[in-house]
Amino acid sequence: MAFTAEAQAIWDKVPEETRAKLLDDGFCARCLAKRHFDLEQGELRDRELALIGKCGTCGGRVVRLIQLD
Ligand SMILES: [Zn+2]
Repeated sequence: MAFTAEAQAIWDKVPEETRAKLLDDGFCARCLAKRHFDLEQGELRDRELALIGKCGTCGGRVVRLIQLD
């Protein structure tokens, strides 16, 4: 996994149960549906944590944005 240091620090504080839910809740642009995805990258974008990975069904790119407050 390739996480930026800031993204890693935030992700480290996310409880295991919440992580599992987030990773089941990515939107795959190829399936056009919510899919479980394999996490590959994490980065901060303004006030969002972007989780980037691969769709568990088709292997397409999935991005899951999490609003930070
Ligand atoms: Zn897919």
